[in-house]
Amino acid sequence: MSTDSNNTDRADYTVAVIGSGFGGIGTAIKLKQAGINSFIMIERAPEPGGTWRDNTYPGCACDVPANAYSLSFDPNPDWKHKFAHADEIQAYLLRTVDKHGLGEHLRFETEVSSAVFDDQRQQWALHLDNGQQITAQVVIAAVGGLVNPAPPDIEGLADFEGQLFHTARWNHDYDLAGKRVAVIGTGASAVQVVPAIAPSVEHMSVFQRTPAWVVPKGDLVVSETTKQRFRRFPFMQKAVRWFTFCFSEAMGPMIVLDSPRLSGIAERASIRHLERCVSDPVLREKLTPHFQFGCKRMLISDDFWPCFERDNVDLVTDSITRITAKGLVTRDADGNELFHPVDALLLATGFETGLSSAPFPITGRAGKTLADTWKNGAVAYKGMAVSGFPNWFTIMGPNTGPGHTSVLVFTEAQIRYIVQAVRKIASGRARSFEVKQQVQDRYNERIQGRMKYTAWSSGCNSWYLGEDGKNRALFPGFASEYYLRTRRFKRSDYTVR
Ligand code: NAP
Repeated sequence: MSTDSNNTDRADYTVAVIGSGFGGIGTAIKLKQAGINSFIMIERAPEPGGTWRDNTYPGCACDVPANAYSLSFDPNPDWKHKFAHADEIQAYLLRTVDKHGLGEHLRFETEVSSAVFDDQRQQWALHLDNGQQITAQVVIAAVGGLVNPAPPDIEGLADFEGQLFHTARWNHDYDLAGKRVAVIGTGASAVQVVPAIAPSVEHMSVFQRTPAWVVPKGDLVVSETTKQRFRRFPFMQKAVRWFTFCFSEAMGPMIVLDSPRLSGIAERASIRHLERCVSDPVLREKLTPHFQFGCKRMLISDDFWPCFERDNVDLVTDSITRITAKGLVTRDADGNELFHPVDALLLATGFETGLSSAPFPITGRAGKTLADTWKNGAVAYKGMAVSGFPNWFTIMGPNTGPGHTSVLVFTEAQIRYIVQAVRKIASGRARSFEVKQQVQDRYNERIQGRMKYTAWSSGCNSWYLGEDGKNRALFPGFASEYYLRTRRFKRSDYTVR
């Protein structure tokens, strides 16, 4: 175990980073660049990568252009597609880990089972699943927001005797070729996997509960000339990244604001896309959404809707009443039941949310637990710091998701902010920072106050909303606003010890 020379005497590490997806890797690079080498990265899987390690389903890609969905401080001129495929992104992350020498900091197949703040020493003790304990002055939880698959709550799911797996836990040993397949869900994962497997399966039934707005993707293969230009003139790639960001910000109000006039523009574009993709009016009607654009996550695909005109693909809109050993049972509006026999059942039903940023018991100052603090919903200052939990910072915490742009704009803003705090601690200028309760409350009152003006509050059901109907997932504004609000770590917002 290493310790920075100007670090306090007792902690094993200045920083413990939990997770090694984009957030953890980006944080580690910036810590190193700030001269902070006393850090450990704890990763429960045998490899870094987070989302892009776990999601390997056919067709998996990022629906944000690669030039924007990558670390600004580690551009990749070699993206093969405008929208990078999952394996390309994972390869990029592995290269980044090597390039920045993060391997020596990473501890794989190690899970944090609990974290306890030591008031006296002003440091954290992390208990690991292998029985060890490590201490760190600062903990940065970069555990991701959409990690653990959420199976649907449908009677009989456990009785199914065929192949059953979730998109985020794809079983590559099972060959879908020539099989009768059911897919439950029509969200961002489904729109990618359905067209990818449609040509090989014998038959596929896609079970749709709520039709979603889909806009054209316009993917393209990046030419060798462009890659060479990006290599020789990095500013060109920066310019493309900047343009992509500005474009998404400009589109933001159409997606984020509760303005039927603005969202109407996007809705009409999506309907035109539907008309181009599907010729059958009955099918089109079934695929037409009936909620305001932006309320649920916008989907981006050129090949999802056309799939339903294939002879071997059916769209099922009747609700699933139960699952049996051999298939699914649906009931139509007249109460008639229909049995759908299948060999494989694929769940594209999304992820657990709620306390996902705190996936193990976390005990802060004076025995306060995060589970208790967040029992009515996760709340943090700028999504990163929680009162009662000194020196605990979260990447992609509450209200830091975007509805319209690359999540990495938020991730990088958080890294920059948190590293400022870590530098002060590593240099001995402070032992701990705890955000003041009133500062956190004021911030969140403003955030929640603005939610009523967003499309997310316009009346649909989405994973953005908690059980109490509050949106604790997304930031109700421009990414540039968040970026500016987090550019400086203000000591006065914190109790400094
Ligand atoms: P999701 O967006 O939460 O979609 C889940 C789907 O399953 C929805 O269509 C939902 O229907 C349906 N569903 C859930 N429970 C059901 C039930 N009991 N019966 C019938 N249908 C049920 O999940 P996801 O597609 O995995 O995406 C999750 C998030 O991951 C996205 O919002 C996005 O942030 C991220 N993601 C990003 C990308 C990317 O390219 N950047 C790709 C994939 C995922 P309802 O709509 O009726 O609830």
